[in-house]
Amino acid sequence: MASLSDDERALIERRKRILGTMGPLFYDRPVHIVRGQAAHLFDASGNDYLDCYNNVACVGHANPRVREAVNDQLGLQDTHSRYVQDEILDYGERILSYFPTAMDRVNFTNSGSESNDLALRMARVFTGHQGVVVTTNAYHGITSLVSSVSPSFGTGVPLAPFLATVEIADVLTGDLPESQVNDILQQRFACAFQKLHDGGFGVSAVLLDQIFSSDGILPGAPGWVNHIAQAVHRVGGILIADEVQSGFARTGEAFWGFQRHHADADIATIGKPMANGIPTGAVIYKHQIGEAFASCTRYFNTFGGNPVSMRAAEAVLDEIEDRHLLAHAQQIGEQLDAQLHQLLGGTSRFRGMRHAGLFLGIDIGSSDSASSDPQATRAIINRLRDMFILISSSGPDGSTLKLRPPLVFSSADVDRFMQACSTLVDEGYFG
Ligand code: PMP
Repeated sequence: MASLSDDERALIERRKRILGTMGPLFYDRPVHIVRGQAAHLFDASGNDYLDCYNNVACVGHANPRVREAVNDQLGLQDTHSRYVQDEILDYGERILSYFPTAMDRVNFTNSGSESNDLALRMARVFTGHQGVVVTTNAYHGITSLVSSVSPSFGTGVPLAPFLATVEIADVLTGDLPESQVNDILQQRFACAFQKLHDGGFGVSAVLLDQIFSSDGILPGAPGWVNHIAQAVHRVGGILIADEVQSGFARTGEAFWGFQRHHADADIATIGKPMANGIPTGAVIYKHQIGEAFASCTRYFNTFGGNPVSMRAAEAVLDEIEDRHLLAHAQQIGEQLDAQLHQLLGGTSRFRGMRHAGLFLGIDIGSSDSASSDPQATRAIINRLRDMFILISSSGPDGSTLKLRPPLVFSSADVDRFMQACSTLVDEGYFG
């Protein structure tokens, strides 16, 4: 790695002085961004970074349609949701049209974490149970409740006593036939339910990121999540589909990850790409669940559903539709997957890869690929960053390269990314 310049060092020091050290930076060398366009970010010197990581700016950085909608609404009004406003109703109706008819109510939040927090509280009231099941390296957000059911925080955040976890990565990254995968996963979830019953908690919800991003990006064959939905219903709990990562056309196969799995979800939580960077989230649910919750408490969120966010979110849906970004995600995802397999498949550090639409994970191993290698993964990420290509990693030990670019990622962007990977292969980064 090239050593840091005085300016870069000063920038990192300034950030630490103001923001402290809670939120570590990506990359050994800081990426100092001043503007963006489509799948590209630019620093003050005009360097053009190819953004292969950003699902928030799903319809592209500095999207003109989103900017216009926001500007227009700011010139009208932007206040809270306890007056009657068309923007929240128009968007509410629109977003519900993307869900099965049984999921017929929506409430707005400002983030994925808030959405999951509310969803878990609703699940508890509706079912009368406390227990929650997640995957072993799940991440669902930062509130006290949600972080206590997010094992990926590590040992610094105590996990809830009412939590049971299920390992899925070993099964979904192997070569087992689909029926065996289903059997094993169903058995494991059944054990988790039993554990919660034995602990006196019962099962309120199975909360699943529908692409299992932090577990290593595990789309799996479509369908297995629906078996889990049926199983949790049988024990009196519900399925919460966390669509913060998998939603809004990301997987290329369906608008939502749970639909890709044909799963009967009871609640879906959304955020990140919803308004292309304007903070917005939502909880979509079957009305019976909301009625139970409303009978004993209320929910008011000052900024949730504010008209500026709603207009931005509407512009995002317009862009996804008009530019056919669902089909585009599938097509570009296939292109990336095929070319990466061809380039990396024979390298000694390649341990496998998975993808759904524009969400790809590539496992990096030691030089004989016998074990995972987070250091080698990090070296690849930092080398790409020095070539102005932005990606990151995921998985329990950070040894899975994670690609999740804006949905507008083009064929020319694929070419540039592949060119950079090819250089890294020549330089020996993949063994
Ligand atoms: N759920 C998942 C699956 C996520 O990946 C994240 C954020 N990385 C969240 C929830 C939390 O969203 P936010 O950061 O908007 O609170």
